[in-house]
Amino acid sequence: MKCEKVMKKFRTGGCLGGLAALIGVLLLLVFAVISVGGAFYVWGVSKTLPTAEEMVNHRPSLATVVYDRNGKVLTNLYYENRQWVRLDRVSPIMVKAVLAAEDADFYGHRGIDPVSILRAFIKDLTHQATRQGGSTITQQLARNLFLTKERTLSRKVKEAILALRMEKTFTKDQILEMYLNTIYFGHGTYGIGAASQAYFGKSPGHLNLSEASILAGLIAAPEYYTPIRHLDRAKTRQAYVLGQMVAKGWIGREEAQKALDAKLPLKSVRRSSVTFSDAPYFVSYILFSQLLPKYGSDSVYRGGMRIYTTLDADLQKDAEEAIRKLPSEGAILALDPETGEILAMVGGKDFEKSKFNRAIQAFRQPGSAFKPFVYAAALEAGYRPVDHLMDSPLEFPNGWKPENYDLKSHGEVSLIEALTYSYNIPAVKLAHLTGLEKIVQMARNLGITTPHLPNDLSLALGSASLTPMEMAIAYSCIENGGKRVVPYGVREVRDNSDTVLEKNGPMLSDGLSPKVAVMIRSMLQEVVRSGTGRGAAISGFETFGKTGTTNDWSDAWFCGGIPGLVVIVYAGNDDHRPLGDRMTGGRVASPVWKAFVSKAASRLKLAKQFSVPAGAGVEIARVCRRTGFLAASGCPAVSILLSAGDAPEAVCPLHGGSVAAARADSRAPRLLLSPMDEGVPAAPGISAAAAPQTDRPEEGTTVSPAPTPVLKVPTPQPPKPPSPAVKPYRKDPSAPNDVEKRYQELLKQYGLTN
Ligand SMILES: [Zn+2]
Repeated sequence: MKCEKVMKKFRTGGCLGGLAALIGVLLLLVFAVISVGGAFYVWGVSKTLPTAEEMVNHRPSLATVVYDRNGKVLTNLYYENRQWVRLDRVSPIMVKAVLAAEDADFYGHRGIDPVSILRAFIKDLTHQATRQGGSTITQQLARNLFLTKERTLSRKVKEAILALRMEKTFTKDQILEMYLNTIYFGHGTYGIGAASQAYFGKSPGHLNLSEASILAGLIAAPEYYTPIRHLDRAKTRQAYVLGQMVAKGWIGREEAQKALDAKLPLKSVRRSSVTFSDAPYFVSYILFSQLLPKYGSDSVYRGGMRIYTTLDADLQKDAEEAIRKLPSEGAILALDPETGEILAMVGGKDFEKSKFNRAIQAFRQPGSAFKPFVYAAALEAGYRPVDHLMDSPLEFPNGWKPENYDLKSHGEVSLIEALTYSYNIPAVKLAHLTGLEKIVQMARNLGITTPHLPNDLSLALGSASLTPMEMAIAYSCIENGGKRVVPYGVREVRDNSDTVLEKNGPMLSDGLSPKVAVMIRSMLQEVVRSGTGRGAAISGFETFGKTGTTNDWSDAWFCGGIPGLVVIVYAGNDDHRPLGDRMTGGRVASPVWKAFVSKAASRLKLAKQFSVPAGAGVEIARVCRRTGFLAASGCPAVSILLSAGDAPEAVCPLHGGSVAAARADSRAPRLLLSPMDEGVPAAPGISAAAAPQTDRPEEGTTVSPAPTPVLKVPTPQPPKPPSPAVKPYRKDPSAPNDVEKRYQELLKQYGLTN
């Protein structure tokens, strides 16, 4: 019946009424579909958003702390220059200014402004760009903490849902405090604490109306309204904020005018949000080579990680101080040779001026600092430190003519003496006798990885190009009894809940035999005791090391160490300009090395004497540096480690021993003659003239007083001088200026510049 009645009504209502009803039903249906769809959409979106619990647990980005090896804070890494400030520590006038500028009804609404959301919705439907603005403080906070900055409808919906959720989770004061501490105020400053310090040099509790209205005005468009660069715009915006405050009755008109007229005591704000205040070369080294590639910039710069490094902050300070005494650019690198831990790293005099980290990026010629590798290969091949070489003028058919530093020839010299005084000609001959390929192999075993190792005899004089880091690895091998280390700077990485993400320790492999390592080390101790390295001796500590200088005085080195510490000091100009006439490693680098290592020795608890690994198979012998025979009382005596059973038995005949005994000694030093010595007037035996006058034995005899058996060494290949077309001291093409550019690119790549 009822149904019939309705049908009848329809009929009586006529065509028009039926149509209207139908449209009504359809509209209802459409509306229902939209509502259900909308509800599902909102539900779907809402599921992806943080819950109330997650919101409470959310920590705004935290600085990562970098520690030195003793737990001292080296530096903090952060994007945002932020210090959390409690709401009751913010001046009330500042709070009012922010409310007036951004959301005057904040304490009245429930988190969202429906009108502005509807406006955004319509604009989206009509394909107008959705503009920011009109969002409540809660919405802005939701966006800052949890959402991206994209301007889409879906973000607007998410923002609204989150805002409502936040209003249920937090009190108004809590929301306002979070807002004030996370909002961006321009110039890399986040939060009111950082902003009031950066702009006005005071804490936010002391801001006056004039300053507060400027800062509040910045929030809408910090870079546009910045008073640092656009004072006129800032003043216009300030007037608007003050006007709003007057309109709300929060301040008087006169008060506002006074604030507007007040002169702003602005401080200049640092622009970059990335600073490396302490140990900058080291910090950027671990950042760009390890931390950022592995963990990404968000974790490193916002994640509150803890990075425990190998650096020693005190040593680092000493190194930074020491490098300033160099007459040029340079680098100082200190390693624990037992572990490879980097104790100090200075890549230049001023990181702000030059990002070029010479400790790891500068490929430079080591000059004579390379010679120990030649001698190590020779000892490995069976030659002895007491054996002899002929130091006589040398000129190759192609015109290459290596010379000694003093431009003299010293006749027959022991290997010990040749290395102690860094003679060049014996080094070239020894390189030929040993074989270039064996020297290259030795350099590789010691950890030299440079692509610039020339395959000719100039290699013996250090014509390769390599980095201070490579030298540090090689000299560590010599210090520690032959183990090759992998240098590292990060010991441990933890996330902000103290979970260990990474732990690093020593990685050791075989570099050279323990026997040769300690033999070379003892020869290099003599270099410091009485040779070209004298300026580097550390009092109270056994010291080994070698100077290095390139032909044209453009690079100067000192490489060496004391027990438990290896330090490389490199000096040179980036454009390879000479350091000055006769500016040798001994003059330029040794004093800096000594100053630094002396301090380090007193800071670190180190042994005074080097240890010799058990089973190294060496014996200590006290020999004459000149002849290599056992030392007599008149000899320049040297305590040197020799392969067990290798020491001569006769006493030095040049300084008082018996010539007959020397002749009969089956372990007498041998004169190693290379094919290069063909045609050189044969004068085997230490010439009496070379000995000090008072020590000259058997006055007037023509017999050589110290006959040494000659060992003519056959070499498989003819000597290979460097081609005159290629300068033997080849310059590395590495350009420090490119480094600055690459550095800026890296900063951009990891989003570290604003
Ligand atoms: Zn002697």
